[in-house]
Amino acid sequence: MSEPKMPTARTRVVRESERGIYDRDTVYRILDEGFICHVGFVVDGQPFVIPTAYGRKDANLYVHGSAVSRMLRQMKEGVAVCVTVTLLDGLVLARSVFNHSMNYRSVVILGKASLVEDQEEKLVSLRLLSEHIIPGRWDDVRQPNERELKATSVLRIPIEEYSAKVRTGPPIDEKEDYSLPVWAGVIPLGMRAGEAMGDPQLHPGQEVPGYVRHYRRVR
Ligand SMILES: Cc1cc2nc3c(=O)[nH]c(=O)nc-3n(C[C@H](O)[C@H](O)[C@H](O)COP(=O)(O)OP(=O)(O)OC[C@H]3O[C@@H](n4cnc5c(N)ncnc54)[C@H](O)[C@@H]3O)c2cc1C
Repeated sequence: MSEPKMPTARTRVVRESERGIYDRDTVYRILDEGFICHVGFVVDGQPFVIPTAYGRKDANLYVHGSAVSRMLRQMKEGVAVCVTVTLLDGLVLARSVFNHSMNYRSVVILGKASLVEDQEEKLVSLRLLSEHIIPGRWDDVRQPNERELKATSVLRIPIEEYSAKVRTGPPIDEKEDYSLPVWAGVIPLGMRAGEAMGDPQLHPGQEVPGYVRHYRRVR
């Protein structure tokens, strides 16, 4: 099946349209740097937007959770979802209140999720999710048992209808405001790992694995 050409009428960025990006490489780079998305869906006319973890493989996002969570139950039933991922890169301080902004990279995906039913694929998807968040961890720890697997649902969301929006650079002020004696510029922000704190019940001498010591998000 040929895929729809991006943007569709629903995914075209309207305001600051020059910031809209529709190529998969950009979208995948943003998705691969993040691991938290917000899943929006409507139940009985009430919108819910739920933050949750995800992993990506090729043109699919995977989310998981308790088999009885409302989000996963609704998604299983095929409700339309909107998934958003945001990476905040900075606060943009302009010379006027109006022109303050943020630097960011964000992705919006529209579609419907489907349940990963095959047990082997479910395990592969869970591993993928784990490796997306902290590569190296899965093989180091106890694998999920049958009870844990049963209590967990995994859903696949195809990345078929999507958009990215990216803002970079300094503030954009009104011409006449550049002469104002006020500081303007960017406060960079980002997700940084601090120093890992060992569990108080660690075996004495347990080494901190390299993937913990060197954890970083920027790929
Ligand atoms: C960290 C952050 C802070 C922001 N703060 C504000 C704010 O304070 N006020 C404000 O008005 N806007 C803010 N935005 C921008 C906001 O996300 C929308 O882009 C904006 O509301 C304009 O939407 P629209 O009317 O052009 O498009 P809409 O009609 O809302 O959306 C049309 C389609 O455009 C695409 N789209 C829209 N926005 C994005 C996006 N950010 N990323 C990817 N795809 C997108 C989607 O596919 C959507 O279906 C912020 C964005 C980010 C990431």
